Amino acid sequence: MSTMPQLLSHVDPEISAVLSGELERQRNTLMMIPSENYASLAVLQAQGSVMTNQYAEGYPRQRYYNGCRFMDEAESLAISRCKELFGAEHANVQLNTGASANMCAYYALLNHGDKIMAMDLNHGGHLTHGKDINFSGKYYNFVSYGVSEKTEVLELDEIRELVKEHKPRMIVVGASAYPRVLDFEKWHAMAAEAGALLMADISHIAGLVAAGVHPSPIPWCDVVTSTTHKTLRGPRGAIIMSKEQYAKQIDKAVFPGIQAGPLMHAIAAKAVCFREAMGEEFRRDQKQTVANCKVLADVFVKRGFRLVTGGTDNHLLMIDLENRIDGKVAADHLEEVGIVVNKNMIPFDTRTPVRPSGIRLGTPALTTRGMKEGEMETIGGCIADILANPESGEIKDRVKSEIAELCAAFPLYREAETAIAV
Ligand SMILES: *Cc1c(COP(=O)(O)O)cnc(C)c1O
Repeated sequence: MSTMPQLLSHVDPEISAVLSGELERQRNTLMMIPSENYASLAVLQAQGSVMTNQYAEGYPRQRYYNGCRFMDEAESLAISRCKELFGAEHANVQLNTGASANMCAYYALLNHGDKIMAMDLNHGGHLTHGKDINFSGKYYNFVSYGVSEKTEVLELDEIRELVKEHKPRMIVVGASAYPRVLDFEKWHAMAAEAGALLMADISHIAGLVAAGVHPSPIPWCDVVTSTTHKTLRGPRGAIIMSKEQYAKQIDKAVFPGIQAGPLMHAIAAKAVCFREAMGEEFRRDQKQTVANCKVLADVFVKRGFRLVTGGTDNHLLMIDLENRIDGKVAADHLEEVGIVVNKNMIPFDTRTPVRPSGIRLGTPALTTRGMKEGEMETIGGCIADILANPESGEIKDRVKSEIAELCAAFPLYREAETAIAV
């Protein structure tokens, strides 16, 4: 190796500039996409580490490669912490993404062509819950359920009728854009009655579940999948938890079924994330995330906006723009002033996914930054001002400077330059 310093800025100034640019963007904007968060410096450090240099196919103490002593330690810690955090009987921490976790869960427990019921993507479900252009919709026979047209809530009495009619082998509960509580105990009763397996995909709400702010699916589900980078605030990645009886099937489906070498740097970072999530500060932040979201919802309702289901119980909310402007235009206007949200279909939307009627926003990242109810009042007011007057340059300028002040008052990654050497 050369004697030159091997820091990124020397080796690759172009990518180094990209990283610095992204760090500045994160510092100077309000990240309000509900699937986003800011992982701690500790998580970033573990993820950007020498753990990336070693193959570790297999599982702790059963590897196909030599040199895995520390790989075993990292993965064993990640597994035992994950089980402790969620109270799960079994955990597999090797999944690279939420999509691959869902693929492995189906692959482990079902056969090609089996019938699965899951939430309609247009009502808040996920691509991997049976969309025709996704592997899930191609290899399994998905039937979707949706929210009730009247309440916009998942009404179990309506869904139970569909379950009776279609007799699925598995029911999937979990969503990407659903602002209300999921009562997993009731889903369990419905699945048991129908003799179906029950899988929960808690990608969005995992942090709330870990902190006890949302009911846990663990006692009620055969298998639970989740990402680790959303409310859980860890590295980009995923996990599968299950009852002990499915442990072997799940592990085999992950390796050698679908994956080969696991991303050990990500697994080390997941272990850090689980440790952080057991702490008091994490619990406080998850509670605050929900409290912040309620304040935001109240501001929008007071300002005359219609929220899907009328409000929120969790970390996200959906605004129906009712054709004032479409969701794409709204999200673009908000990004101009430093507020990042995403366009989203609302249930029974009459518009298209590229120009939908709604926007989806949430509070996990703002809360990680330390913001509380007072800031939510300010931010909600700013968003309402922009949405009500999208063409006003004067309002844009005023909001832009308010957002810049807020970003400065809640700094992000103070020691980042030294810790991650951008
Ligand atoms: C985000 C999400 C996923 C997929 O996660 P990726 O890591 O993007 O593959 C799966 N299911 C739900 C409900 C999600 O919200």
